Amino acid sequence: MQVSLLKLGCWNAVKKYCVGVYGRMDWSPENSGGAGVVTEASGRRYPTMVIPRDRLQSVLLREIANHYNKQITVSFETECTSASFKSGAALLKSSRPEVPDVDAQFVVAADGIRSRLVQEASRVSDGRLGVTTLPENEKRSVVYKTINLELQPGWRGDLNYSARSGESLEGAVTLEALPCLDGGLVAVILFSPGDARLTTDLNTADDTRALFQSLFPQFTPLIPEAEYAKFAAKSPSGLPRFTYASPDLHLAGDQGATVCVGDAIHTVKPYFGLGVNSAFEDIITLHHSLDHGAQGGDSLQHFALGAEEYSKRRGKEAKALVEMSRQFDGDFLEFVLPLILDGIFSKIAPSIFAPNAIRMLQNEQYLFTQVQGRKRQDRALQISILVSISVALVALGKHTIDFLTATNASILP
Ligand SMILES: Cc1cc2nc3c(=O)[nH]c(=O)nc-3n(C[C@H](O)[C@H](O)[C@H](O)COP(=O)(O)OP(=O)(O)OC[C@H]3O[C@@H](n4cnc5c(N)ncnc54)[C@H](O)[C@@H]3O)c2cc1C
Repeated sequence: MQVSLLKLGCWNAVKKYCVGVYGRMDWSPENSGGAGVVTEASGRRYPTMVIPRDRLQSVLLREIANHYNKQITVSFETECTSASFKSGAALLKSSRPEVPDVDAQFVVAADGIRSRLVQEASRVSDGRLGVTTLPENEKRSVVYKTINLELQPGWRGDLNYSARSGESLEGAVTLEALPCLDGGLVAVILFSPGDARLTTDLNTADDTRALFQSLFPQFTPLIPEAEYAKFAAKSPSGLPRFTYASPDLHLAGDQGATVCVGDAIHTVKPYFGLGVNSAFEDIITLHHSLDHGAQGGDSLQHFALGAEEYSKRRGKEAKALVEMSRQFDGDFLEFVLPLILDGIFSKIAPSIFAPNAIRMLQNEQYLFTQVQGRKRQDRALQISILVSISVALVALGKHTIDFLTATNASILP
């Protein structure tokens, strides 16, 4: 996000409202309630910076008002109720009579998950702009609720606090808390939708207090009294499904173009902070693609060429991002084992094997497709090494047994 916002010229404005996070404090089920283990962040090119989503939106809106008020008009509380396309130009219907419909030659669709514009564009794209939703790992299905915490003396304001209650990943209750600029923390509690302790059995402030006392006792001194009732009253929210658009991310014709960005073309679960970051990368790629398209004659051709270039550069990235994120939501074989293998092999031979995919994704120098390609290559080499070692061990074992059998035979009277 930092690199993208720097390129977009608004990092300094956003930075003022961010809190730096320089490490983690973890509690595992084995030591829940005991002393957490602090791991300081190391080897990062940029520190992790945290900003609430609504605060980020407000800062960006203010940047628009300060620098682009002549070019950009924002209509609040207005829904696009339908979109139709003719030769690339779009007609967007407004939900409010006082806000006119938009008849546009160039549209950037950034309407988030279940994007209406992507759905409508997909219908008339002859299969070029298809929407794929990957199957969910039902065992890891989670919903979440948030709770505000207040830092107390002795608690650092620059750590990501993380605790898990429950032995297995399935059915566990997880708390992830990040600091805010006002000195508090926002904690997200993730749990299985069928967990009665956080759904049917949780109705009052006292129920919440008892729940935190049993699951996360170390956090109870940080919970303000009023938060218990608020938490009980909240309904759980779901996380988005793994969805991407492909192969095109645009619709174009001789009358204009519509291009799609952000969650509208790639939605992932927010475990690794890739949502907003990848949306900003889309915007930067779009900017470069339109510059590329500008070499193509009049403005309508310019839009169409820019949109095509954008799909070419970004379409495979959207797919790779969602496929990799889906693997992170997998079971032991899909998620944990690759991390273990990468940890071992990249330590033994760092010049041959790259760090794990999560670490690679945090390095903005790599494209998502490059990380995916590199990890496939590493995995193939790791598997062939492990298979070779296993074959050698089996052969050695067989040779030893043959040798012992022969030796025994020759010494038997
Ligand atoms: C719990 C949670 C935690 C997250 N944490 C992180 C994180 O730590 N880091 C990170 O990078 N990402 C995170 N994300 C993901 C991140 O919020 C999204 O990836 C990001 O907001 C996508 O931006 P967007 O502009 O594409 O879509 P959105 O932010 O969803 O914006 C879409 C906008 O379009 C509007 N809209 C939708 N339909 C219409 C319509 N028909 N007419 C008019 N307007 C419409 C919506 O009201 C909304 O304002 C998190 C998501 C969740 C749910």
